[in-house]
Amino acid sequence: MSDSVNRGRRDFLRQGVLAAVGWRQAAFAIGKAADAPASPLAELAYGQVQFGAGPLERQARENHRLVLELDEDALLRPFRVRAGLRAPGQELGGWYGTYAFAPGATFGQWMSALARYHAITGDAATRAKVQRLVRGYAATIDAPRSFYRRNRFPSYTYDKLVGGLLDARQFAGDDTALATLARATRAAVPYLPPRAMPRNEHAQPGEDFSQHAWDESYTLPENQFQAWQVTGERIHLQLGRRFLYDEFFAALARGDNALPGKHAYSHVNALSSAARAHLSLGKPMYLAAAQQGFAMVAAQSFATGGWGPDEHFVIPGSGALGAGLADQHKSFETPCGAYAHIKLTRYLLRITRDSRYGDSMERVLYNTVLGATPIQPDGRAFYYSDYTRQARKTFHPDRWPCCSGTLPMVAADYAISTCFTDSQGIYVNLYVPAQVTWTQNNQRCALSIETEYPYASSVSMTLQLPHAEAFTINLRIPEWAHGASLQINGKERQPLQAGQFAAIPREWRSGDRIELELPLTNRLESVEAAQPDTVALLAGPLVLMRMLEADPAVAGIARASLLAAQRDPHGRHDWQVPTAGGPVTLKPFLDIDAQSYSVYQTVLPS
Ligand SMILES: [Zn+2]
Repeated sequence: MSDSVNRGRRDFLRQGVLAAVGWRQAAFAIGKAADAPASPLAELAYGQVQFGAGPLERQARENHRLVLELDEDALLRPFRVRAGLRAPGQELGGWYGTYAFAPGATFGQWMSALARYHAITGDAATRAKVQRLVRGYAATIDAPRSFYRRNRFPSYTYDKLVGGLLDARQFAGDDTALATLARATRAAVPYLPPRAMPRNEHAQPGEDFSQHAWDESYTLPENQFQAWQVTGERIHLQLGRRFLYDEFFAALARGDNALPGKHAYSHVNALSSAARAHLSLGKPMYLAAAQQGFAMVAAQSFATGGWGPDEHFVIPGSGALGAGLADQHKSFETPCGAYAHIKLTRYLLRITRDSRYGDSMERVLYNTVLGATPIQPDGRAFYYSDYTRQARKTFHPDRWPCCSGTLPMVAADYAISTCFTDSQGIYVNLYVPAQVTWTQNNQRCALSIETEYPYASSVSMTLQLPHAEAFTINLRIPEWAHGASLQINGKERQPLQAGQFAAIPREWRSGDRIELELPLTNRLESVEAAQPDTVALLAGPLVLMRMLEADPAVAGIARASLLAAQRDPHGRHDWQVPTAGGPVTLKPFLDIDAQSYSVYQTVLPS
């Protein structure tokens, strides 16, 4: 991994890691960590990135509206009833209900999301709702009966509450949130396990909650270290350390693939605790665990960037991904998985400055979560992505599942995933229509991004500065973008190296304009090395999925025909492939509605 931009990369391909991570290892495998730059890239504040019209802006706006309209008595009901308090209003239902599968489990996430949307929009009603929820929850904490008694998910629910209360303080300015956090922590601690407990899928939930069979205590440290940083309270440092999943992390750091058989989303989420532990404790083992773990996930990913068929990790290269295309409709727990993936790649991008973590984030963004059907007001929610040969988008059978908690959060987090800064300048990670403001050399600077990317290859960026200012603009050049180039103020076009951040140091002036060109080359990726004829077609970061109802007769497609796919000349978001049986239409995941589709195609022997 490189410790700087534009100086080439050193790859540490250690034998054991190669064996562990399989054929897709080359992009991410490393054998040692600890050569990350001294300080990570900084995130911008939520309000510093304002999206223009497009799918990111739309999904954030839809989810803001959803959480703003959630009924507050229904949200508080599981906490009130389980505490033995009076509880007006209705049950929310689904997983969330008072005595249902995961009572109140998403409450903290919705509080987080509201606080983040307030930070993005400045909306007063959103802030007021956060403050009412903090007070409503606070009134249930010290009741005679504990909310956590006979609760299947004490760690999970408490972890999300910690995040929600921290965000209520930091992003919605709630001055009671930290005192509430202290009380919430005292109330939860007696119900937490002694250490990070492995998840036991074979246990019968409901039989014996003391075994913590389905709980996710190994995800606790991330928010605990954050709470320690915000409050300075040692209890949070102690809890962060206590729940570090050291046997899992040490195995990953050694290059042993400890993933197969494990629950996918929660263990990728745990890798964020490893990344956060590295930042908080400065121990290289935790960074190595996060990086190696990520490489092992990448080695068993679909072309969409999704992973975890039936919510579990498989053995890379074992044929499990390809075999599932026949009848496994549960290929990627999409909003939760994307939330964990985007958060982890954000940490790793910030820590290592390796642009390929941004490539991976972008792949998951466009090919999974942006295509999630919106959560309905009655709690029907998108959950699994379907990668079978006759796939359709569906809702989870139960209302208000885990993914209804993570979708509002990940959509808010697009704002902080777009650009990063260091003392030298700005890093542009996502090319989306946006107005970005940041402070450079104590001056307020702004960058406006205009683009139809990833449907088109050109990105225009214009600077607004108080006066001429010397700094570096770093542009992520995706690994597939061979032939990338840029032009500044219409002068000579310069070629750019793919697979790194292109650093452009310069004395910038207001009105300076960068025209970036990222050729959206068509290419094929097989589902696994052993199935070279089962391929997905990609154009730039987009997987193009074949629409089925229009062309039921087409069986296989010639490799060359698929590679010759062209976008509709009238600007629609679909691509055409000419075949002997007539044209075949392909679309990106985010442009598919009710129609049946296939992510993978069979290519004819050439
Ligand atoms: Zn989920």
